[in-house]
Amino acid sequence: MSSKRLIFNFTESELIVFLEENGFPKYMYKQLIKWIYTKYELNPYKFSDISKVNREKLKEIFSFQLPKIVKISIDPEDETKKYLLKVGKHEIETVLIKEKDHYTQCISTQVGCPLRCKFCITGTMGLKRNLSAGEIVGQVMAVIKESDIKPRNLVYMGMGEPLLNYENVMRSIEIYTNRKGLDFAFRKITISTIGILDKLKGLIKKFPKVTIAISLNQIPEEREDLMPAEKKYPILKILKYFEENKYFRPTFEYVLIKNINSSEKHAHKLLRLLEKIRCKINLIPYNENKIFPYESVSEEELNKFINILYKGPNAITVRRSKGKNIQAACGQLAGEKDAE
Ligand code: SF4
Repeated sequence: MSSKRLIFNFTESELIVFLEENGFPKYMYKQLIKWIYTKYELNPYKFSDISKVNREKLKEIFSFQLPKIVKISIDPEDETKKYLLKVGKHEIETVLIKEKDHYTQCISTQVGCPLRCKFCITGTMGLKRNLSAGEIVGQVMAVIKESDIKPRNLVYMGMGEPLLNYENVMRSIEIYTNRKGLDFAFRKITISTIGILDKLKGLIKKFPKVTIAISLNQIPEEREDLMPAEKKYPILKILKYFEENKYFRPTFEYVLIKNINSSEKHAHKLLRLLEKIRCKINLIPYNENKIFPYESVSEEELNKFINILYKGPNAITVRRSKGKNIQAACGQLAGEKDAE
């Protein structure tokens, strides 16, 4: 096994210390970050403003290996691109979504997911392992290198529950937002979570401008049937926290599944539940698939649901998932072998 250190794992401050400890000049971290994250050059022999001796040494100490692209699937309808990537012996997926005037990339944080939400294909895999910060950052770098497209938005909504891989996710945010490097805007990064309160508080404290999306998906009294993690991480605690901390405006995501969580009763309860919280509500009609028997709602049911929520104070959006034809839509990521 290689003892080289994966360069994408380092935050700026870690890199400064590590370079110094290994006898490199102090200023070199700036050159390194510039080559890797602004020129996307991963061959140290091409770092022309670094001495030949140091270039050799960099090659010896660091690995510049990105997750290997195994397969790319493109949805002919909306040009969504799904990448199957190899990380060690596992496979993960990341999705590049074309919007009107920019791109959004959906990234994974774990191989599989331990939370087993009943409507999610990733959940059927269980947890294989956490991704390192470098593997999280490597997903964006691999896509930039392949497509020459730098997404504007990053959404942590791929495989896994980000807050169960807290340390690595936090480090990846630090690396993504480094002004000298990839320079993503904090508010263009969305962390989607089922709601793990202590970790959520830590995330908000360290990165108050990051966007938070809570996967709500069901009223509290029925949520455990759909999301077993409700038992351990009750949503009422999350709602109370946001009720008391109004300076923060999260998004609540609600996947609408016919006959499960889409009745008028559900809409009225949801309205009451969220009316004291400053938030956005994002409704996502369920993506039907071959694995689960769930059905999506009709347009009529969707409109009824929205009209009830409109009585409340919060903004409501409907997200129609892209990449349906290539199993790249929400809750459909599972790695090639598991998805087919
Ligand atoms: S919906 Fe998210 S938290 Fe639930 S099983 Fe799927 S990946 Fe995990």
